[in-house]
Amino acid sequence: MSEVGEIIGKGKLPTPAGCGYAETIEAIASAVRGLAEHGAPVCGLGIGAPGVADGEKGIIRTSGNLGWENKPLAEDLSAKLGIPVTLANDANAGAFGEYACGAGSEYKSVVLITLGTGVGSGIVLNGRLFEGSAGAGAELGHEAIRMGGEKCACGRRGCFEAYASATALIKQTKRAMEKDRQNHHHKELRGNVGEGGGNHARGGQEESESGAGPCDGHDAAGIVCQNDFRPQGERHGLF
Ligand SMILES: [Zn+2]
Repeated sequence: MSEVGEIIGKGKLPTPAGCGYAETIEAIASAVRGLAEHGAPVCGLGIGAPGVADGEKGIIRTSGNLGWENKPLAEDLSAKLGIPVTLANDANAGAFGEYACGAGSEYKSVVLITLGTGVGSGIVLNGRLFEGSAGAGAELGHEAIRMGGEKCACGRRGCFEAYASATALIKQTKRAMEKDRQNHHHKELRGNVGEGGGNHARGGQEESESGAGPCDGHDAAGIVCQNDFRPQGERHGLF
């Protein structure tokens, strides 16, 4: 990305199997070095990482997906590359990016919700990223929307994430299909719902008689944002 926020290149690398810390940061470092070799000198690095990221200290406090605890990611990468490194939670980084030069650039305050394996969120209030203590705040995915409801990956019940994530939609669809094996979704997919099955997941949920919940991802996002933030406008898309 250029100094004025223009995206000048994109790339994608798989996370090394097992997500070992040393191996993963070496993979990131070599990707950055690769950019320099192709004539794009890198003067700074911003990292959006899953989990609780303490941006002030540059430390990953905990990341369930990567299995990391208290890793000084910013300092270690800065030492490898010789450039300044800034760290944030991935959804927080996404929210600030959209605020600074994307879909939220016409607003002072922005709330971003990411619907994927889980439900991530980032909040920018009056031009400042709100991260909570040690970067552990702004977790709208774990707001309870149903007391005693579905079990969530965080260990509690009834969280927004337990209804609106892709994982939750797939689970609800499988449950609905098992109840109704004559359902056209069940026949078409033969009981398998996985990646790319989002539309079927939504359809299956609508036809569910499980009483699992009133909301798909979009509706639940709307409920949380409308009631907590009363936004000036909405932008929908994939981030
Ligand atoms: Zn939760």
